[in-house]
Amino acid sequence: MKIHDDALEQARGEMVEFLRVRYRIHDERVLSAMKNVSRHLFIPKPFRENSDAYGDHPCPIGFGQTISQPFIVAYMTQTLAVQAGDKVLEIGTGSGYQAAVLAELGARVYTIEIVPELAAHAKTVLAEQGIRNVEVRCGDGYAGWPEHAPFDIIIGTCAPEEVPPVLIEQLAEGGRMMLPVGGRVQRLQILRKRESRVVLEEDLPVRFVPMVRGGLE
Ligand code: SAH
Repeated sequence: MKIHDDALEQARGEMVEFLRVRYRIHDERVLSAMKNVSRHLFIPKPFRENSDAYGDHPCPIGFGQTISQPFIVAYMTQTLAVQAGDKVLEIGTGSGYQAAVLAELGARVYTIEIVPELAAHAKTVLAEQGIRNVEVRCGDGYAGWPEHAPFDIIIGTCAPEEVPPVLIEQLAEGGRMMLPVGGRVQRLQILRKRESRVVLEEDLPVRFVPMVRGGLE
């Protein structure tokens, strides 16, 4: 068991060095958060064997969904400049891994997942890891989470065809939102709210699962 844990810790260290060298991730807080979160434990047990949790690719988590490639998690987290105490809304909890990285940075995380089994899985793993500053809700992200709005940061890990206006409304003044937008062709978009105006910037081309409405077909 000890040997296994050491090997995983080493793989995690190598993942972080790869993010630094290959992808030029430079925010030490983000790198150290990703060094501290046991990514492999967020992959549901049936998918964990041979999953290569620390490789440079997404990993299946069931229900046709994936845990994002480590670079995407690092890049979005770094770009959003998450600070301790920030109130963050995540759309698409999936495995709970991205939420755990945000929590490790000291954010107060509210995360919504539409697949009940994944929401339950994420809740369990986060609790087992002793991560307390994340609240998971099973529901449709298109509604946002009005009870806890406004949010300093909104991060989307599934792609709507267009930015849902409700999410812009739930963004705090000075807040920033990052999410993939599009259909088969998607771009990451960053929206910043300043003096009630929204400034939009297009970023990397990406490929996320679609943000579905009201349930999976
Ligand atoms: N952030 C996740 C990766 C999520 S994959 C992680 O770290 O593991 C995208 C997730 O978005 C999937 O689990 C999918 O079920 C969920 N999803 C799709 N449409 C949604 C919607 N309308 N509301 C909430 N979650 C949604």
